[in-house]
Amino acid sequence: MTISFHRSNAIDPDHEPKDLKSLRDIKSKEFKETLKTPISEIIRDRIEAAGDPYFANDSIAHHFNDREREELKSEIEGKLQSLFSSMLIDTANDHNTNETARRVAKMYVDEVFKGRYHPMPKVTDFPNAKELDEIYTLGPITVRSACSHHFVPIVGQAWVGILPSDRVIGISKFNRIIDWVLSRPHIQEEAAVMVADIIEELIKPKGLAFVIKAQHMCMSWRGVKEPDTRMTNSIVRGMFRTDPHMKKEFFDLIRGHGFHD
Ligand SMILES: [Zn+2]
Repeated sequence: MTISFHRSNAIDPDHEPKDLKSLRDIKSKEFKETLKTPISEIIRDRIEAAGDPYFANDSIAHHFNDREREELKSEIEGKLQSLFSSMLIDTANDHNTNETARRVAKMYVDEVFKGRYHPMPKVTDFPNAKELDEIYTLGPITVRSACSHHFVPIVGQAWVGILPSDRVIGISKFNRIIDWVLSRPHIQEEAAVMVADIIEELIKPKGLAFVIKAQHMCMSWRGVKEPDTRMTNSIVRGMFRTDPHMKKEFFDLIRGHGFHD
């Protein structure tokens, strides 16, 4: 006796209905996506293997390439989308928030937190050919950041004072360095120290002063809702610290450029 199996329940892949086939393709794509290691995990492993910190105000840009940054943006978009869904926002039907996850992911990675995800702008230093030995100050320079505690904006102004030694950089480079460092989630006092450290490393000035004065939206938009409070931090190093006359000269100079405490 011959037993034959009737394959009426199986679908011959060459003859299955078109809709079903495309559904299956989508499903298997989704399935593969869920099996794929998230790019954030791959990058985190690298950072930890290198023994580098990755706090909110650290730059991690040297641990991935441009393509991986794009992948990271897509991963963040997906997480923001599930955040909005947990917040019960009907993003599928609300035309205002339909693309918000993508917009916010881009804004974080390429704009407001670019100081974490993009490398430092190129800064070339030059010899101090004219042997300038006078204080110069820059400011006010607009600073924009976000507080690490609430992820809401910090907006303010900064002033730099330099007593040069044998290296100098173009004055616009100060703005670029400050913008790069501040474009991360921060607390203001740490941001000031980070900026001072980078400038010091680059040009090793005889004196360095850096002042930030800013408004924190976590105090004006929420919490105590006090819009007039400003926080001021000042860092003085080298001759600005050891010579009180020089320190006074710096503060007198920046008072002429909009600083008042
Ligand atoms: Zn805050």
